Amino acid sequence: MKKLQAPRGTLDVLPPDGRRRLALAGIADEVLGRAGYEPFETPVFEDTEVFARGVGESTDIVQKEMFTFEDKAGRSLTLRPEATAGICRAYVEHGMHKLPQPVKVWEAGPFFRHEAPQAGRFRQFTQIDAEAIGSDDPSLDAELILLFDEILERAGTGPRRLRLSSLGTPETRAEYVEELKRFLRAREDELSEEVRSRIDQNPLRAFDADHPGTQAVMKDAPLLLDRLAPDDAEHFTAVRELLDAAGLGYEIDPTLVRGLDYYTRTVFEVESDRLGAQAALGGGGRYDGLIEELGGPPTPGVGWAAGVERILMAAGEAERDGGIDVFVAGTGRDAFVLVRQLRGSGLRAQMEQAGRSLKGQMKQADRLGARWTVILGDEIEVKDMDSGAQQRAGSVDEVVRMVGA
Ligand code: AMP
Repeated sequence: MKKLQAPRGTLDVLPPDGRRRLALAGIADEVLGRAGYEPFETPVFEDTEVFARGVGESTDIVQKEMFTFEDKAGRSLTLRPEATAGICRAYVEHGMHKLPQPVKVWEAGPFFRHEAPQAGRFRQFTQIDAEAIGSDDPSLDAELILLFDEILERAGTGPRRLRLSSLGTPETRAEYVEELKRFLRAREDELSEEVRSRIDQNPLRAFDADHPGTQAVMKDAPLLLDRLAPDDAEHFTAVRELLDAAGLGYEIDPTLVRGLDYYTRTVFEVESDRLGAQAALGGGGRYDGLIEELGGPPTPGVGWAAGVERILMAAGEAERDGGIDVFVAGTGRDAFVLVRQLRGSGLRAQMEQAGRSLKGQMKQADRLGARWTVILGDEIEVKDMDSGAQQRAGSVDEVVRMVGA
C-alpha cells in the first residue's frame, strides 16, 4: 500500500509545538489587545479576484504562487496567500468605515503559497497579522511596528534587525521607476547580463545584484526616498520620530521592496540574526489605496504579517514541559473518579491508561514530570515526587487536600 504522507511543503504540528503556538497567539492577543486590536477572522479561501485586485496582478504571489481552484458552480476561488486583502474585503463588505476609526484588528491562521519548500518556507504556513484601517496617522505606523517588536521580544526570538523605508505614492513610485530605468539604460554596458535583461520588467532588482559591476553602478543610482512628495516625506519623518522616541533601533533601507503591490508610504521588514536564508520574521506597511481598489471608499490602512513557524524557529527549542500535578497509579472506577475530582479542582491530573505494571506506572509518573503520585491499592498512598516521601491517605478527600487542591 502507498505510504501516506503530508503534502509537500506542509507540516504537522506535534507536541510540544502546539502549545508553543498557542502561547505565541496568547502573547499576540495580550500585546495587541492592550492597544485596542480585536481578534478577527476571515475565510481561508476568497474569490480569486480579492487577491488579483488586492495583492496585484503583476506580483509573484498572484502570478505563480496561488492555490486556485473552481467550486462546483465554476467560481474561481483561492486559498488565501496573505491576510490584508481579505480583511479589507471584509471591512468594505460590512461597511466598517461607518464605525469609529481606526478599526484595529488582528488575525492568526493558515496561509498558502505555492513556493519551492525549504527550511523556513512552506506551502501552508501560519501568520499572525495586525491591521489598523481608517486613519493615516503616523502614530499607527509606529505603534504597529513597536507592538510587533514587543511580540518578538516576548516570544524570545533574540537579536533581529528592523529595516524601514517609505515608498511614497504609486505616482511617485511610477515616476521613480522610469527615472531608474533611464539611469540603468545609460550605464547598460556596466551591468550584469541578468540585470540588463530585466531593466523593463523589474529595475528595482538591480539593487540586490551580487555582480560587482552592477553594485558599483548602483552606488550612483537615484533613490526613491530622495524623491518623496513633501507630505509623504513628512509622514515618514513623523514615523521615525515616534520610533526614536520609543527607543527602537532601525536601519533605513532605501532599497526595501515588498512582494505585494499595495504598499504606499511606510514599509518595513524584520529579520532574525538567528535564521539562515529565510530570515524574515515578518513585515508590512501602509496601504492607503487598497480599500478603494477593493471597491470601498478611499480609506488609508497600515499593518503587518508575521511568520509563526519562523518566530518559533528563531526562539529555539521548547523548554521542557512544566509537567503535571498528579499521576494516579491505578485503574478502573476509583482512579477515574479521582482524576476527575482532581481536574475539577484545577489540577493537571492523569491516570494509568495503558495497562502498565506498578513499576511501569511509577516510571510513567516520572516521565510526565508529576509533582505527586497517588498509588491506589488496598490503601491509598500519596508520594511526594520531589522528596520521595510517601504518606497514607484515609480517603479520597484527604488525597485532594494533601496534593494542595
Ligand atoms: P510577507 O507578507 O510575504 O512578507 O510574509 C510575512 C511573513 O510571513 C514573512 O516575513 C515570513 O515570516 C512569513 N512567510 C511568508 N511566506 C512564507 C512561507 N512560504 N513559509 C513560511 N513563512 C512564510
